[in-house]
Amino acid sequence: MQLLLCLSKPAQHVKKNPLMAASGSGSIMWFRKGLRIHDNPALEYASKGSDFLYPVFVIDPHYMEPDPKAFSPGSRLAGLNRIRFLLESLKDLDTSLKKLGSRLLISKGEPDKVLIQCLKEWGVKKLCFEHDTEPYYQALDIKVKEYTSAAGIEVFSPVSHTLFNPADIIQRNGGKPPLTYQSFLKLAGQPSWLSSPLLTSISSLPPVGDVGSCEISEVPTIKDLGYGDIEQEWTPFRGGESEALKRLKESVSDKKWVANFEKPKGNPSLFVKPATTVLSPYLKFGCLSSRYFYQCLQDVYKNVQKHTSPPVSLAGQLLWRDFFYTVAFGTPNFDRMKGNKLCKQGARSFFFKKGYRSLISSSFHNIIQDFALRMPSLNVVMIPWNDDDELLAAWREARTGYPWIDAIMVQLRTWGWMHHLARHSVACFLTRGDMFLHWERGRDVFERLLIDSDWAINNGNWLWLSCSSFFYQYNRIYSPISFGKKYDPNGNYIRHFLPVLKDMPKEYIYEPWTAPSGIQRKAKCIVGRDYPKPVVYHDSASKECKRKLAEAYALNQKLNGQLSQEDLDNLRRKLAQDEDPEPKIRRQRRKVGHLT
Ligand code: FAD
Repeated sequence: MQLLLCLSKPAQHVKKNPLMAASGSGSIMWFRKGLRIHDNPALEYASKGSDFLYPVFVIDPHYMEPDPKAFSPGSRLAGLNRIRFLLESLKDLDTSLKKLGSRLLISKGEPDKVLIQCLKEWGVKKLCFEHDTEPYYQALDIKVKEYTSAAGIEVFSPVSHTLFNPADIIQRNGGKPPLTYQSFLKLAGQPSWLSSPLLTSISSLPPVGDVGSCEISEVPTIKDLGYGDIEQEWTPFRGGESEALKRLKESVSDKKWVANFEKPKGNPSLFVKPATTVLSPYLKFGCLSSRYFYQCLQDVYKNVQKHTSPPVSLAGQLLWRDFFYTVAFGTPNFDRMKGNKLCKQGARSFFFKKGYRSLISSSFHNIIQDFALRMPSLNVVMIPWNDDDELLAAWREARTGYPWIDAIMVQLRTWGWMHHLARHSVACFLTRGDMFLHWERGRDVFERLLIDSDWAINNGNWLWLSCSSFFYQYNRIYSPISFGKKYDPNGNYIRHFLPVLKDMPKEYIYEPWTAPSGIQRKAKCIVGRDYPKPVVYHDSASKECKRKLAEAYALNQKLNGQLSQEDLDNLRRKLAQDEDPEPKIRRQRRKVGHLT
């Protein structure tokens, strides 16, 4: 396999230096995210005063190699679109490094083990990598740092993936993450680095040292990773810093557009030229620095008379990103409903109710306060979501029978990117809007298929959309019919992503099951044969969802958010007993109809 091209012949930029280990002038730049040259303080520091620099990326087989059991082509953890995007980003980084007299060293295996082996083999005295707040990287970094501290290796791990350091914000807030965007903004203020220009280019880098017996390869292709010839529609977005900077330039050069950017206004059905920047996959892998993006936006704002502001402005979107990073970092078990200690918030607010406070002795109060300050503070509503693999598969595989929802799910599968409001539509449909399925199941599908899949942002938005946290207005449901129609009455978006409906007249394209049979025949799309009937009836299903959420909210309030598994099970049983039998019966009938 090409991937393990061992460098027994030193590559062009690899220089032999037998004294290197002894002189200790080598350093490793460990790329994980942050796949860029511009605004990369770890790379800058790694190259300073170093005679040799080893830019390393470790391919983790769990993330990259094929898993035939997964529900879509790709590895155990990532869909193939994202893997390809990453490989393109690595290739682009390698090209840029080569222009600077260096190159990217690709190694393969368990990242901590591979890295420690490289550290031993190359005898470097400095290890640099971008700080990462995700639990996966936090755990990885502990293992690596254990080794470096014992071996006396200097570690430099700056925060440059976000605008602010989440730990600083949490500290400023007395040890708890801020719970609202507005309180986050107040705590954050202006980024400290904004007053001085960011380093956006590097003129040269130290050469790569001898790699010894470490197995190093070129950036692999999809085929090298073992995927063979894959026939699938690929995302139109190409990975890499060069592409990111090009996209950024295009976006910010339209000053009027930047100045007037206002989310959630914007058309989710635009796909030839999407209504937003589509910079998220580049920010995810750090091909684009969010700080540089933010600085470019400030430059535009300075040069226009009027511009929008957070939360709706484009800079405001980057602040949403930082907000979710901060809450996620400060919240244990941020990615799940159960075992989420956050529900103890109820207890805290009870203890600190005015009046009650005066009843407890000051020392007891201090203990409670100390306890409360250590508690994470996001309040996750415990909801007895249903578990229904059939419904989940219909949603995931774009078979809900609602063309707006199914078209979005096809865009997810083929492009790995959808507009924010399109994500709202399908997340609401899966959870509190129609299907009443657990947000964690939907989160998993997004996590795999999005090319911008981001642990903090994805979980944060699923918590939001399912009305489990941040946002609690469960009566506001996106209609799978009228919401999309408002933006795209002709259904061009649906026609593109669901070609089976391309000849359906616009009167029926959002509800094809209502089309008379003659029209269906003429459109060459018989509902129930060529395109599914709706798996749920929106009107009755959404009413049921609201009823269930109302009961779940009431119980959470009554028990101060401290629901046991038994409480949840009891509530689930009660909700099932009280369920309106009508939608279930219709579903059964349809199932039978579908089979015959
Ligand atoms: P723009 O509108 O151009 O915004 C610029 C940048 O701001 C984005 O690239 C992104 O980094 C940030 N941003 C924008 N909206 C949000 C937001 N609501 N929360 C946090 N940051 C934001 N975004 C991801 O990057 N990764 C995810 O895994 C992800 N999962 C989501 C899941 C759900 C259920 C929902 C509703 C939204 C999710 N988002 C996610 C947020 C948002 O939809 C995308 O960031 C946005 O659509 C990306 O397109 P863009 O780059 O054109 O955004």
